[in-house]
Amino acid sequence: MAYKILLLAGDGVGVEIANSALRVAKFFQSNNILNIEIEEGLVGGSAIDQTGTPLPEETLRLAKQSDAILFGAVGGPKWDSLENKDRPEAGLLKLRSELDLFCNLRPATVLDGMADTSTLKTKLVDNLDLMIIRELTGGLYFGFPRGIFEKDDQQYGINTLRYNAREIERIAKASFEVALKRSSKLCSVDKANVLEVSQLWRDIFKKISSEYPTVELTNMYVDNAAMQLVREPKQFDVIVTENMFGDILSDLAAMLTGSIGMLPSASLNDSKQGLFEPVHGSAPDIAGQNCCNPIAMIMSLAMMFQYSFSEAKAAQMIGGSIRSVIKDGFCTKDIPIKDGKIIGTKELTNKIIEKLQGLYDER
Ligand code: NAD
Repeated sequence: MAYKILLLAGDGVGVEIANSALRVAKFFQSNNILNIEIEEGLVGGSAIDQTGTPLPEETLRLAKQSDAILFGAVGGPKWDSLENKDRPEAGLLKLRSELDLFCNLRPATVLDGMADTSTLKTKLVDNLDLMIIRELTGGLYFGFPRGIFEKDDQQYGINTLRYNAREIERIAKASFEVALKRSSKLCSVDKANVLEVSQLWRDIFKKISSEYPTVELTNMYVDNAAMQLVREPKQFDVIVTENMFGDILSDLAAMLTGSIGMLPSASLNDSKQGLFEPVHGSAPDIAGQNCCNPIAMIMSLAMMFQYSFSEAKAAQMIGGSIRSVIKDGFCTKDIPIKDGKIIGTKELTNKIIEKLQGLYDER
């Protein structure tokens, strides 16, 4: 049976990087390495322009039928004046909640030869390989009551941080599974010294840990975790945390690696269906100039192969090709490798595909 991929390019650089990822996916298709079918759909600002809505019904239908979605980026100044609910980003949020994509994986990896593109000292980030897992469909961003209210001549802004036991259990299990496949070290980050939600979080993680006796579970308060990530990031292997803490910590971890153009992500549901996307946005400042970095998007495709399709070898081929291109000194301008050569988006994609071909021929 073919794996069904839905490609949603979106806006700005989303279109360029989607093209790069499509070419890489077609490499696997045309060489019969993977049996994949690729459909394309509209999302974000371009969907608003063509259909009046950021997530057309047809796109949602295709998404629900697919095994995995590869998502470029959405947004741009053209749509900034729209109300939040009508903006391009609303399309992505709706996709995440419609597909119940609760488990967000954000690796922060520093490839060989790239440590000096980080703002931290080389020895702190050299060969860093960290996985941040963020709960994506619960917590403060989704809790009710919420809103701005008026009472007794005073305005109140209210949001609610709420998790139920089932939501915590499923993210706990998913993170123990990820930790098992890595170095079996899991650090759960919370604020249990202040928040009751975090106390429940901690209790449930402890309970689930008895099902994973080989995984070492530690707990850390979120303020300390932020400090430790900058002080000694290599002490961590897998970090798991709730939605808002994860939003902040994963951006912090992203910056340890130097460029946002290198960072892929995966958002999975219970049936391993996933949405795979770079961490960055539509970068309107550089869109259409053939200079954006396609690596985050191509690595997102690799994560799709690994996590949704369990095709680890195909994922490793992509990782190996990217490492090899970087080792040869080729890069886009956001990752100026020492003594390297800056090339365009299309040209870097060509180099990655050449390396893939080389790996395939060597087999
Ligand atoms: P951004 O991530 O688009 O850009 C931030 C900076 O990083 C810019 O200087 C940009 O040039 C650079 N950058 C981003 N991707 C790059 C790449 N692949 N290669 C090289 N450099 C890259 O964030 P922003 O500027 O805050 O937002 C721009 C638009 O994207 C906004 O409309 C925002 O709402 C939207 N956005 C969308 C998503 C998404 O689709 N998931 C995520 C974040 C922001």
